[in-house]
Amino acid sequence: MHYHQGLFDIMFYIVPVIIGIVFVFVIAFIISPKLRGRMMAREIKAMKHMMDAGKEDLKDIASTGGEVMADSAQRILKENMDTLEDIGARAGKIQAETVRRVLDENADAIGGTFEKTVDMAAPSVKKMVSAVAEGIKEGMEEAQVFCKSCGAKIDADSEFCKHCGAKQ
Ligand SMILES: [Zn+2]
Repeated sequence: MHYHQGLFDIMFYIVPVIIGIVFVFVIAFIISPKLRGRMMAREIKAMKHMMDAGKEDLKDIASTGGEVMADSAQRILKENMDTLEDIGARAGKIQAETVRRVLDENADAIGGTFEKTVDMAAPSVKKMVSAVAEGIKEGMEEAQVFCKSCGAKIDADSEFCKHCGAKQ
């Protein structure tokens, strides 16, 4: 009664076997350059033979196969667009969650590093600020002149002295 072997059940047994065979071949390929060379030579020979034997057939097969493959790829994409979008959205969510978790778990370390960076930067920032302040002060001082009448320090652009009222 439970022998309802659908396509899935068959695939369930065949796929691991195929994967096993491929795996063995891959290992053998990696281990033995000699085997690799021999297999490649044979493959090339077979391919050449095949191409010589049926150039036109091959062309037909290639174009038909290509069309079928493109069609089915398009169909699969269209049919599974929702699922694919879902997978994309889920992957994005998982990524965001992972980033947030990592940030949460390492908040102390990140905060400490930030504080240390600020501490390290503080003296140079202070120095920079005082240099800028010094520059501004110097610039303002440069913009001052002495009154022609009383000799008091007044702004260079002032029309009258603020101390004696003399016209400049
Ligand atoms: Zn004056």
